[in-house]
Amino acid sequence: MISLALPNGHSMPALGLGTWQLRDSACEDAVRTALELGYRHIDTAERYGNEREVGAALAASGVARGDVFITTKVWPDHFRASDLRKAAAESLRRLRTDYVDLLLLHWPSKDVSLAETVGALNEVAAQGKARAIGVSNFSVELMREAASLSQAPIACNQVEYHVLRPQQALLDYARGEQVVITAYSPLAKGRLADHPVLVRIGAKHGKSASQVALRWLVQQNGVAVIPKASREPNLRANMQLFDFSLDDSDLRELASVTPL
Ligand code: NAP
Repeated sequence: MISLALPNGHSMPALGLGTWQLRDSACEDAVRTALELGYRHIDTAERYGNEREVGAALAASGVARGDVFITTKVWPDHFRASDLRKAAAESLRRLRTDYVDLLLLHWPSKDVSLAETVGALNEVAAQGKARAIGVSNFSVELMREAASLSQAPIACNQVEYHVLRPQQALLDYARGEQVVITAYSPLAKGRLADHPVLVRIGAKHGKSASQVALRWLVQQNGVAVIPKASREPNLRANMQLFDFSLDDSDLRELASVTPL
């Protein structure tokens, strides 16, 4: 499994399991199966209402805490400093852990100043409750602002990124600042599974269209992917990304796919 270096000296596995919309036992089952298959990076959020299930699956898995990278996110309703501190503590309690590897601001907020929120995020990190901090759904401009307000490096921006949703400006900025881009909805919520261009490229490599979609992302510098899968064959397939490469002609074809 390829890992991406973070500014705190730790690293993030380039492939993680997304858990949005996985609830109750379906979430616990998916996380347990993923850990059994070898996933070592789980993406959740207080907003997903499934941190408790993620925590239960991690506890039952027997995988050492230090061997799993856990990301969670604070929802904008909790961006006031005292609310953020409380939200982070609640997330840790539900996840049954003393720290998360990465704590993100889920979306920008118009209601609370970024200075207040980033200040509280830094406090949580300084207390060792988040090893790294970052943002999600932030523009380049907001990333610059967050970085200027933060003592700890803004290690990651998690954004929607896939073949149908280019993110060149963000990538250019992130690479210059050593910020990891985590691609969410990397399969365009499953829509890429039937895309004729990806199906054709996949056939050439003995891979599925979804594997091509994920490979296209992890083949790029500083990009991680967090596909969500609940079915075991999909969980397995999404791990098989590191035994093939897309060549220049594949990349040209993918670049010509019409964006959304
Ligand atoms: P996604 O990962 O693009 O697509 C998930 C869908 O693809 C599911 O229906 C899944 O089916 C299917 N799938 C998975 N692997 C497949 C394969 N190999 N072949 C065919 N189909 C496959 O969508 P997403 O859940 O929107 O995004 C992934 C994660 O990103 C989320 O779970 C969440 O953790 C994160 N996210 C973050 C934000 C944010 O604001 N930060 C927003 C959206 C998402 P099955 O479940 O049936 O296996």
